[in-house]
Amino acid sequence: MSLPIYLIGARGCGKTTIGQALSQALGYAFRDTDHHLQITTQRTVAEIVAAEGWDSFRARESESLQAVTAPGTIIATGGGMVLAEVNRRFMREHGQVIWLNAPSTVLADRLVRQPEAAQRPTLTGRPIAEEMGDILRQRAHLYHQAAHHEVNAMQSPDLVVEAILQSLSLARA
Ligand code: ADP
Ligand code: MG
Repeated sequence: MSLPIYLIGARGCGKTTIGQALSQALGYAFRDTDHHLQITTQRTVAEIVAAEGWDSFRARESESLQAVTAPGTIIATGGGMVLAEVNRRFMREHGQVIWLNAPSTVLADRLVRQPEAAQRPTLTGRPIAEEMGDILRQRAHLYHQAAHHEVNAMQSPDLVVEAILQSLSLARA
């Protein structure tokens, strides 16, 4: 049985991009917890938070994580998935967890270049590089705690996929 592979990391680290490439390389399915949440609620993340508050969003996020978990699946998780201990434990117990790690300046640079960046407003209204710096400082230890493997996400997507495949085969050896 092929255990699910969870990709964790802050916005812009490449969970969607790398997840899709990895799913092709391995012949696995690809799922995205934010996308699952949007389909099942017919709302965006921002709309759920506005209507129901953060606690309700976080509870729905945990449900999404469990709903998309299946063998032979790559799972791109929401950037805040690691905030809840229950999610960190669930991922570690059910599959292999990979942290796509890149400095906040790289993440911010990628996000401002995205055409849909306007749909992903910063949480505080401050410059995105500052905000990403704060987020990484707050969450780095949680990503580290949750992950079985940490991969340098500054490399080209091909090399990131390669590094993940290598860390997984080392883990299985
Ligand atoms: P996430 O799903 O983690 O928020 P995305 O996969 O949407 O991240 O990537 C955010 C942006 O960064 C996209 O424009 C994507 O093309 C780009 N990107 C992702 N990974 C890399 C990489 N390894 N090198 C260069 N650009 C990347
Ligand atoms: Mg994504």
